Amino acid sequence: MKVRDYADVVDRILSALGKSERLSVWHKTSSPSHPLYCLHYAAKVADAPTIYVSAGIHGNEPAGVECAVRLIEKIADATHQNFFRLPLKEFNWLISPCDNPYGYERDTRENAIGYDLNRMFGTPNRCPETAFISESLLQTQTYLKDTIQLALDLHEDTDSHGFYLWERRSSTCPPIGNAVVKQIEEICAINRESMIEDHRNENGVITLLDTVTTKGWTRGRYLAEEIQTRCLILETPTLLDLETRIEVHKAAIQASIKHTFTNYIKLI
Ligand SMILES: [Zn+2]
Repeated sequence: MKVRDYADVVDRILSALGKSERLSVWHKTSSPSHPLYCLHYAAKVADAPTIYVSAGIHGNEPAGVECAVRLIEKIADATHQNFFRLPLKEFNWLISPCDNPYGYERDTRENAIGYDLNRMFGTPNRCPETAFISESLLQTQTYLKDTIQLALDLHEDTDSHGFYLWERRSSTCPPIGNAVVKQIEEICAINRESMIEDHRNENGVITLLDTVTTKGWTRGRYLAEEIQTRCLILETPTLLDLETRIEVHKAAIQASIKHTFTNYIKLI
């Protein structure tokens, strides 16, 4: 049974595309009813860093999708500068807002044929959704001057009582997870259980260094190994109301950018 309509997401994407010349389609699938979209926003400064935001690979995690669509809308709208307390338009963005439309409409984690898409990145071409994501990302190596410098994958957890995140990075890359959690604890409880899904959780941060394989072939691992990009996987607790969870995602995106690009933000 459908609980949400993906056509609403597509309508909002198309409306945003009509509002800003800097916003364009980076990659799209040809499905007439459920086209997948990855959008690109080009900052005025050509060598601005690129941030990748993705959501909805698990269809029963709608707060990330709503946050990503609102982000697209605010970037495209010249009259709204302050959705985040950040100079949003000084960054290049790649935003893939709803990567599992079938699951999104039916509130299921899996896609139409029962796959958990966030375990399929070892052979992304086996599923149209993961093929689309990998094509979007590989295209960056051809068309962007630099690699994606920060990736944020928006998820939710139906079992957790608080926010936590997975930080996937190389051991030479300075951690930012704790700084992000510090800002989230002002608006949401933090999950401080010592173990989450068999991984050590330190005050809301699960660190996956270098080539950790215990999570399987997730998008985060694909980003780390194929695109050489650090990735934070943000998890909001679905027991909270939707607006609070959207706010938490928004604040976590904001904090992640602030702590990753401290020097760049000082210059602009
Ligand atoms: Zn998820």
